[in-house]
Amino acid sequence: MTAGGRGTVQTVLGPIAPADLGPTLMHEHLLCDIRHPSQRKPDDLGPELALDNVWAINYGTAKGAARNYLLDAHDVAIDEVRRMVTAGGRSVVDLSCGGLSPDPLGLVEIARASGAHVIMGCGHYVEEYQDPANATRTIEDLAEEMVEAVTDGAWGTDVRAGIIGEIGCQAPWTAQEQRVMLAAVLAQRETGAAINVHPGRHPDQPQEAADFIRVKGGRMERVIISHIDRTVFDDERLRRLADSGCVLEWDLFGQESSYYRLADIDMPNDAVRLRAIRGLIARGHLAQVLISHDICYRSRLVRFGGHGYGHIFANVVPMMRRRGFTEAEIQAILVDNPRRLLTLE
Ligand SMILES: [Zn+2]
Repeated sequence: MTAGGRGTVQTVLGPIAPADLGPTLMHEHLLCDIRHPSQRKPDDLGPELALDNVWAINYGTAKGAARNYLLDAHDVAIDEVRRMVTAGGRSVVDLSCGGLSPDPLGLVEIARASGAHVIMGCGHYVEEYQDPANATRTIEDLAEEMVEAVTDGAWGTDVRAGIIGEIGCQAPWTAQEQRVMLAAVLAQRETGAAINVHPGRHPDQPQEAADFIRVKGGRMERVIISHIDRTVFDDERLRRLADSGCVLEWDLFGQESSYYRLADIDMPNDAVRLRAIRGLIARGHLAQVLISHDICYRSRLVRFGGHGYGHIFANVVPMMRRRGFTEAEIQAILVDNPRRLLTLE
């Protein structure tokens, strides 16, 4: 066990040496409640997923599928993370922050039982999910909460976060969400942690968030913009965002349905995601690329007919090789970039 703090990676079981991190998924949810707070009714969960409803749930035509959006079974999560380890993954980042029912002690249990390194996020998701009390807190108070999550422990436990985020934004970006983002920038200054941004669903919102963070003094090379695959669809915006120095994350790998419940977009498949990434690498942005699955539905778990946390290692990496990615490029995306971003500095 290393001493912790700067120069280490902080997992839910304590600090580790950066070299021990290995292949890492940078944006997942192991335990999470992604249901809208107004729809969180324990007696209204609907049926468990089964062979005769999972396709309809994935295609958006099933009614009353609230249960799909709740990841609360520790034994299921342990089994799924073990599958990731078997497929070649070593570490996983859980970004279930404030509003998404964070469960630090649950993550400790999963890390112990699976043998994977688990790194936890902190901060707050989009405004509708936040504790209403956040609206009356000062920016300094919100920042101090994130600093304490990294230095002492999060959500009333002594389990420490290793990254800030995912910090929720919408389009239009609300004043409360901007206050939380400013708090995240202040907390980054104190802790040296990377910030993960959940951008709003307008193609200009990632740039808006990145520009805000730069103006407020954030360290752009330690800012990750999530969900590029559902937000930015043209080369011009993509290049401009990359030129601003932040890290771009394609984190919906495995999600290949035309249906996306939160916006009417042309969701890419994994091959199209890789094509966009190749274009950025050709422009010299290899150090700014991350990939993950952002699993937050049951239907994406192996247990319920989905691809699971092992998909990138089992299926996407072979596709990368077939499509001309070098071993050094694969290593950069899955090992080197996550290691650099998760090392507190
Ligand atoms: Zn997100």
